[in-house]
Amino acid sequence: MSGPNTNYDPVEVAALDPEAVEAAVEAALAAAAAAGSLAELKAARPAHQGDKSPLALANREIGALPPSAKAEAGKRVGAARGRVKQAFAEREAALEAERDEQILREETIDVTQPTGRRPMGRRHPIPLMSDRIADLFVGMGWEVAEGPEVEAEWFNFDALNFDADHPARQMQDTFYVEPPEGGLVLRTHTSPVQARALLERGVPLYVAAIGRVFRTDELDATHMPAFHQVEGIAVDEGITMAHLKGTLDRLAGELFGDGITTRLRPSYFPFTEPSAEMDLRCFVCLGQDPDCRTCKGTGWIEWGGCGMVNRNVLTACGVDPERYTGFAFGMGIDRALMFRTGVSDMRDMIEGDVRFDAQFGMEI
Ligand SMILES: [Zn+2]
Repeated sequence: MSGPNTNYDPVEVAALDPEAVEAAVEAALAAAAAAGSLAELKAARPAHQGDKSPLALANREIGALPPSAKAEAGKRVGAARGRVKQAFAEREAALEAERDEQILREETIDVTQPTGRRPMGRRHPIPLMSDRIADLFVGMGWEVAEGPEVEAEWFNFDALNFDADHPARQMQDTFYVEPPEGGLVLRTHTSPVQARALLERGVPLYVAAIGRVFRTDELDATHMPAFHQVEGIAVDEGITMAHLKGTLDRLAGELFGDGITTRLRPSYFPFTEPSAEMDLRCFVCLGQDPDCRTCKGTGWIEWGGCGMVNRNVLTACGVDPERYTGFAFGMGIDRALMFRTGVSDMRDMIEGDVRFDAQFGMEI
């Protein structure tokens, strides 16, 4: 009977051969070092750390060794497996750090870089133009006044010398507020602000009023039931038509460019005497094109009405017409915007599409 093979030489077991173990370690270290990505490292791992890897096989062989050889072989293979494990762990940590760095690099946001801006809202061109007009008059020392849009019939018509049977009072022109006997209308012009200003502030008076007015017009390309006017009234001693012309020329220059030619054409309004229409020289054709669509070949563009304040209006507002004279005017702001910017359809102005507003830029 033979005893245990105490002289067993582990070198004789191929898998435990120190050189083989060392070679397996070298191969594993080389594979770990060669892995260029976490995926490659993961793919390389079974061949060197898996159940069928040389070192795993060697580890299994240890069980069959005599006790005297187990310790030495176990220590050696354990150390070899430890080196491989550490090499893979280190390589994995390095590759993870590389990946994280790459992600940070790729996802870096330069907060100082200009970005696609969110489209801004815009102010509507009518209030923009209204503000410019108000600024002009304030710059000339005038005051800017406001009046109610639902106006007393007396202010809208009677105080302005409209007879009781004047056609403008008819239902087809004027929105009456119910009940009809209540005497309220949606103001048909900004002129009632003239009467209110005269009564409230007295003379001398230099007041501009900008606001919305209402007529029973059907909405089409050139008419709106609600539109905007700038109204002006100046009452003082010695006021003449020349002051009126100079003031309107200044307003026309502000809105349409300096040097624009204007003319006054005799007209009639109940609240002014004498009265005139102010026309602008067509700035598209300068009166040279009989087929011009802006002026319809006339060479002139009608802009608004004006005149010397009727003495009946002054009297109705408690001003002595023997001592004071004044002028007044009312110009359409919507029409001015159309002429100034080539808007051909008034309906574009009220549809609230920001793309329409955006064309006019932004002024604050
Ligand atoms: Zn023209």
